[in-house]
Amino acid sequence: MQKIYLDNAATTPMHIEVIEEMADCMKNIYGNPSSTHIFGREAKAKMELSRKKIAEALNVLPSEIVFTSCGTESNNLIIRSCVDYLGVTRIITSNLEHKCVKETTTEMGEHRKVDILKVKTDENGSIDYDDFETQLKSSNQKTLVTLMHANNEIGNLLDVERVQKLCEENGALFHTDTVQTIGHYDINLNKMGVDFASCSAHKIHGPKGIGFAYIKKSTGLRPQITGGGQERGLRSGTENVYGVVGMAKAFEMAVQDLDKHRSHIENLKSYTIQKLREEIPGVEFNGLSADLDKSLYTVLNVRLPFKDALIGFELELKGVAVSQGSACSSGASKVSAVIESILSPQQIEITTPVRVSFSCYNTKEDVDALVGVLKKISEKHLVAH
Ligand code: PLP
Repeated sequence: MQKIYLDNAATTPMHIEVIEEMADCMKNIYGNPSSTHIFGREAKAKMELSRKKIAEALNVLPSEIVFTSCGTESNNLIIRSCVDYLGVTRIITSNLEHKCVKETTTEMGEHRKVDILKVKTDENGSIDYDDFETQLKSSNQKTLVTLMHANNEIGNLLDVERVQKLCEENGALFHTDTVQTIGHYDINLNKMGVDFASCSAHKIHGPKGIGFAYIKKSTGLRPQITGGGQERGLRSGTENVYGVVGMAKAFEMAVQDLDKHRSHIENLKSYTIQKLREEIPGVEFNGLSADLDKSLYTVLNVRLPFKDALIGFELELKGVAVSQGSACSSGASKVSAVIESILSPQQIEITTPVRVSFSCYNTKEDVDALVGVLKKISEKHLVAH
């Protein structure tokens, strides 16, 4: 049976070069990077070289890159420590954030008495920037703004420049979840002017279980995990040296091949939109995902013009893997919180969202197979009605 992977926003296959680099490191480097003998120094050197490569590509200081276990941990570290150590008593966020931001801010509201404000979003999931400005100016409490750079379900891109400028003018700290964008765009964090950002290696063909938080030095953030004082005191625990090396390699490759991969994936996305429009009458797209200028090029959220709670399962039976929301909520037949926030209850009642997400390894044949299966499913629904 065919096996087609179109769920790259959930995770990506590792590049073979990344695996080789990690295997080489596993074979030859086993010291604890905190040990002062040669074995430890070798491990430390590998790690610091990796940190330097990542920092240079993002135009930040190596000391501003803090290795963590994943995007979730990075976002937790940033949000929780802003409340614990930087005097944040108000967080401005949205309903469209990834669960690791949403649950964390909710907890800060419920258990830490932080005021949580949600910016208005429209039926496409676009932020109402005027509402954001009004909220920002409505109090002089110490505020953290946390808005994601690109939405992992509908692909909407944030106007980071606009949000950053407003944050700066109003003395707010600015965190943007860049898990879906680092390695996909030419990102200069220094120029972007954000205080905090996050990355997860497994979204860019690197290993799972490793990520980093970008923490601007001047913020003076303090840790959530304390102990041996690794990561300049910001994240204790013996470092995942192999993961770090793999992440740096994946990141290096992403930066090197960015334009080539971007144009390949953009072509695939356009082709998918065109084929779906040709083959499935009434198909639409959720959020701004069909707008190539305003959305993450790796994500397309298809809105099928019929209700089919088993669509993921039916696609899987035909060997096509996609998702209906973020990976954390797939398996649940419940519509995702993001889709619930942007569509009306009537629209939810009569349509089915399917998130298709691409990587450099996908081909037109993959798209043809996906569209073929969706066409058959949609014809079945047309006959039934
Ligand atoms: N933020 C966004 C936007 C994501 O898409 C994800 C993963 O799906 C995460 C955070 C969490 O990253 P990780 O899987 O590394 O914890």
